[in-house]
Amino acid sequence: MSVAAGTERIPPCSGRALELEAGDTLVIIDPEGEQVSDLTAFAREDLAEYLSSGRSIDYASKLWLTTGDVLYSNRSRPMFTIVEDTCGRHDFTLTPCSKEMFERLYGERKGRPGCEGNLAGALAPWGIGRDRIPVAFNVFMHVAFDPDSGAVSVLPPRSRPGDFIRLRAEMPLVVALTACSAGQSNNFRYKPIDFRIERRDGGIDRR
Ligand SMILES: [Zn+2]
Repeated sequence: MSVAAGTERIPPCSGRALELEAGDTLVIIDPEGEQVSDLTAFAREDLAEYLSSGRSIDYASKLWLTTGDVLYSNRSRPMFTIVEDTCGRHDFTLTPCSKEMFERLYGERKGRPGCEGNLAGALAPWGIGRDRIPVAFNVFMHVAFDPDSGAVSVLPPRSRPGDFIRLRAEMPLVVALTACSAGQSNNFRYKPIDFRIERRDGGIDRR
């Protein structure tokens, strides 16, 4: 497929970090379909302020956030607005896949770093380590809950090739995102994730 100007690729099972200004837009694209991207963010003016699953779900009064919904920080300030979403199903409840999760749930003898390790690795230049990685906004992740028992199911993503979500930054942010490493979350095929930054002044990021 042709790749739009300024689009960058995150290779399978890896992560990236980037900085956004208020008003910039981050477009996260699933180029092949059925691939999750974990996203987290911190306020650049005080890195103790982070993207909060609990606040966002509470204020939206629903689990599944899509176009028009706002993602809040732990300090109840808007960090992102979802301005466009061609997939419509994402998860904001489960922690990023991790070394220990691969050992417990997948029986790997020596678990891979997973999204948790990849997010922390990408955020190391900002001094943010593994213990500070919160529940991520799991873009394209398809999690279902039994309404009676609350049993959790991780299902293949609903995203098709080329599906994307467009997020407007509402404050200066450092953002990290991954191409997720968990088999169950990605229908057991590890694929890349593409992203593009559209600067508020109309520029396309080429770093
Ligand atoms: Zn993951």
